[in-house]
Amino acid sequence: MTVTSKRWILSQRPASAPSPSDLEFTEAGLPDPKPGEFLARTVYLSLDPAQRISMSDRTQYAPPVEVGSVMRGFSLSQIVVSRNPNFSAGDFIRAAGGWQDYWIGSDGVKLDTRIGSLEDHMSLLGITGATAYFCLLEAGQPKAGETVVVSSAAGAVGSLAGQIAKLKGCRVVGIAGSNEKCLHVVNALGFDACVNYKSPTFSADLTEACPGGIDVNFENVGGAVLDTVLPMMNLHGRIAICGLISTYNEEGPVRGPLNFDLTLMRRLVIRGFLIGDYWPRMNEAAQALSSWRADGRIHNSVHVIDGGISYALEAITVLFQGGNFGKVLLKVSEPA
Ligand code: NDP
Repeated sequence: MTVTSKRWILSQRPASAPSPSDLEFTEAGLPDPKPGEFLARTVYLSLDPAQRISMSDRTQYAPPVEVGSVMRGFSLSQIVVSRNPNFSAGDFIRAAGGWQDYWIGSDGVKLDTRIGSLEDHMSLLGITGATAYFCLLEAGQPKAGETVVVSSAAGAVGSLAGQIAKLKGCRVVGIAGSNEKCLHVVNALGFDACVNYKSPTFSADLTEACPGGIDVNFENVGGAVLDTVLPMMNLHGRIAICGLISTYNEEGPVRGPLNFDLTLMRRLVIRGFLIGDYWPRMNEAAQALSSWRADGRIHNSVHVIDGGISYALEAITVLFQGGNFGKVLLKVSEPA
């Protein structure tokens, strides 16, 4: 059986926002799977800000994507043909399938579709939910009664992190890029307040929303947003660095936050976080999030772009332009 895979190849490292000159949409024939391998078809491609990092050769969590290689990315895929005893045709897996519609592989996490929809497995019950859960609870260490600030609060990770902080009895203040997103964060997600970082009164608005200062900052954005949050941190506050999306399109050295001296004066704990360190504990997060959702205590938003694999470049742009509410997924094919 000869299968043609449509895919995105990194043709050069982007100098700023990724553009069509940086990634080439092409196709290639796939060989038959060898013993131990399977052929998989991508159903949903996850769009993640970190994919922009892997296009660059800056220091990062994993080796960068090589120029000339298929662009890296997690996907939910369905096994078409298996020569690996651990997988059968029809199984759904979450794996690093990349920006392509068919691929050959040998590893992935088999998904139980009885406990959640395919979209759930790529958001609440997957990497997004686990990132929000572990980064907040282990890096942020929130305690009931404390004030927790979450940036990119209407986004995939931020929307869940803020809701988990509410469940833990905290006052939760979101930061987002539009008044519409702030209304959603308060009215649909139950945050106590949300402020628009694009408003000229952002700093004053955040001060007003956090009258007792900030105990935990769940940082998704960095840059000017972190510069505004840092001076409001309380003594012994915690800053959980989940992501710094405002810096991902920059080349060269990334500057640190202004007023870094306050980390000393206020004895702050700053902890960088990577979900890859928590792979063995993914089920713990999925179980907690699943039961909170079953009780109606947590709301999951998914932003599906129904365009096929040829839309991957446009889809990742949505993240950097703030066009999404919740987790951005590209629908690549219908499940069989
Ligand atoms: P989101 O769903 O939050 O989407 C990205 C959002 O970032 C946009 O919607 C936009 O919202 C905001 N944004 C984009 N550019 C800027 C900017 N220049 N300044 C301020 N805000 C900006 O994405 P994810 O939930 O997938 O990821 C959120 C963060 O979490 C990222 O930094 C990502 O790298 C990180 N992450 C980290 C993981 C880890 O293991 N450490 C795992 C997964 C994600 P708005 O309209 O509000 O501006």
